[in-house]
Amino acid sequence: MGIERIVSTTVPEDNKEQEEIIEKSLRPLSFDEYIGQERMKNNLKIAIDAVKKRRASAAADGDDADKNATLDHILLYGPPGLGKTTMAGVIAHELGANLKITSGPAIERAGDLASILTNLQDGDVLFIDEIHRLRRAVEEVLYSAMEDFKLDITIGKGPAARSVRLDLPNFTVIGATTRTGSLAGPLRDRFGMLHRLEYYTEPEIEQIIARTANILNTKIEPAATHLLATRSRRTPRIANRLVRRVRDYADVNGDGIIDAPIATRALDLMEIDDLGLDPADRNLLRLMEENYGDRPVGLNTLAAITGDEATTIEDYNEPYLLQIGFIERTPRGRLITEKAKQHLHNNKTVV
Ligand code: ADP
Repeated sequence: MGIERIVSTTVPEDNKEQEEIIEKSLRPLSFDEYIGQERMKNNLKIAIDAVKKRRASAAADGDDADKNATLDHILLYGPPGLGKTTMAGVIAHELGANLKITSGPAIERAGDLASILTNLQDGDVLFIDEIHRLRRAVEEVLYSAMEDFKLDITIGKGPAARSVRLDLPNFTVIGATTRTGSLAGPLRDRFGMLHRLEYYTEPEIEQIIARTANILNTKIEPAATHLLATRSRRTPRIANRLVRRVRDYADVNGDGIIDAPIATRALDLMEIDDLGLDPADRNLLRLMEENYGDRPVGLNTLAAITGDEATTIEDYNEPYLLQIGFIERTPRGRLITEKAKQHLHNNKTVV
């Protein structure tokens, strides 16, 4: 995507460094600060407490086996911006462990993974973002590392090649993916816990907005908090981004306080409608309606007519549009719903 989409769930390329610094400062560190996702939090709390207990009692009675008890590997899945990376940080923090962060595309060769793994210490948490994008050869090395903390590597080439097995420290992998479907079965099976992140409720998003405004030292009135929450696509990353853009607007066009009229004007300027859809979403829906009407259309065709990447549509536009019932997935492609058509007709004035 060339231009920055306000409702984009990715961190924009230009200004990336600045954006990442701010995003980091807004990241909750503990379970108490992490809003929502109660079911996942409760399950994880129990698992973490159990590990801590095992370690403590092993230390008390000199039991070597449990001394290095580790948390099972965890797979977090769900649309971007819902808090997977944040949760990995919270888990490491609650465990009192170091967090190492990498991503599927960043590990190019099996050797890269080997060097990451051999540099880990007992109890470390290794977060692998976009784990579905790991290369096959790398994935295979990861299997045995996750399974029994051993690293199988081949030394040398051709007939002289031999394979050696190295011991690794006990560590926990937290994998994050937007699609479990794209994850190879054997890799998925290595995870002891799978958690799906849900879209947040509006009151939860309101809490996140209030918390963010507080960290940014910005005054926001409850009516404005509510308004922004309704347009955040129930996604914390978008909620945080809206707060920051509206704050800029309030600084320039008002006295810095975010009230409902200021928030409304700023959102109108950004062309974000009452459901949080932006011009790119509406364009996608409009093209579906005009060209296909009641017929399903394939993802690649959609990518061709909108000029977006198929993965962008699949990862960023589609999950929320599916969630609010604006499109349906059928075996023959995506179908626009009556509800979406209605929304487009009611919002004729906005592009
Ligand atoms: P993902 O890894 O799923 O793409 P992130 O963990 O990077 O999402 O979350 C994006 C931003 O949203 C974070 O910087 C954080 O500030 C905020 N955030 C995510 N989840 C929560 C939450 N449960 N409570 C408060 N803020 C959150």
